[in-house]
Amino acid sequence: VNLSNQIAAGEVIERPASVVKELVENAIDAGSSRIRIDFIDAGLKQIVVQDNGSGIPSNQIDLAFTRHATSKIKSEHDLFNVSTLGFRGEALASIAAVSHVEILTNSSGAIGTRAEFSAGVKKMQEDAAARQGTQITVKDLFYNTPARLKYLRSPRTEIMKTVDIVNRLALGYPEIAFTLMNEGRILLRTAGNNNLRQTVSSVYGRNIAERMLPFKGSDNDFEVSGLISKPELTRSTRNFISILLNGRYIRNFKLASAVMAGYGNNLTDKHYPIAVIKIKTDPLLVDVNVHPTKREVRLSKETELSRLITSAISSVLLKNDV
Ligand code: ADP
Ligand code: MG
Repeated sequence: VNLSNQIAAGEVIERPASVVKELVENAIDAGSSRIRIDFIDAGLKQIVVQDNGSGIPSNQIDLAFTRHATSKIKSEHDLFNVSTLGFRGEALASIAAVSHVEILTNSSGAIGTRAEFSAGVKKMQEDAAARQGTQITVKDLFYNTPARLKYLRSPRTEIMKTVDIVNRLALGYPEIAFTLMNEGRILLRTAGNNNLRQTVSSVYGRNIAERMLPFKGSDNDFEVSGLISKPELTRSTRNFISILLNGRYIRNFKLASAVMAGYGNNLTDKHYPIAVIKIKTDPLLVDVNVHPTKREVRLSKETELSRLITSAISSVLLKNDV
């Protein structure tokens, strides 16, 4: 038993939604244009994530499941210049430590590879017919860490948490077609046609998508763009503000406040807009190595970015005479 693997797994893999987040991020990093997620029993029995990306060569499988091994950064210096969603080399090792994992992958167009891991140990590997890309099946999550199982909420809540994460990833990557299903029921499907409004429509519904306004702004360091709701279209939580920094969904109170500041006094108390805020910047300005889930980042020039967001939003609202 590899104890350190199980302990470290606890930092990244808390629930089915975290498995999905990590596997989908890998699929995105692999250049996929289609990503499909299938759950059985809210992901507790089984999670399958299938992509059409680069695949993994058979002689790289062991490395992919080794902790702190990543193909995405090459040097210490690269840690401060991360342009992929992953870089810690922890996810596959962590997931495999607390479940049964099967990987089916093809990177070459020739024969592919199938391998199985249980509790962090490789059980088998063989040549196998596989489509281009990677399919990872995670069974019986936390079967060997019962304490962790106890922390899970109802299947309904666990599914909601997954939907929330896939929603944000889909909003961050409108050029990728996402499908999320639980036992044959579609929970999310996006077209992958690089149309943000249509993606918003798939995520929040057409009614909302039609009442969103595009905005744009830039300075020397940042490009911001996206869709924001008209002031009369609000929600009672900030959760509908999605901030996507170089494609990564981040939580950032200051930037969310900057979005709201763009509405001036159009927003009444406890009313929050719906917004998809895309930020592009040089990765050197972003330190993503703050937290294992990579959800929090440290940003140089955060104040400057806040101002840019606020002014880009307020000028659109002014123009629309609201
Ligand atoms: P990280 O994403 O931080 O590099 P992971 O443990 O998530 O670490 O993945 C380990 C490695 O496995 C990645 O660096 C990548 O080379 C490979 N990998 C994982 N998932 C995929 C995938 N879906 N397609 C192609 N390669 C993958
Ligand atoms: Mg990863």
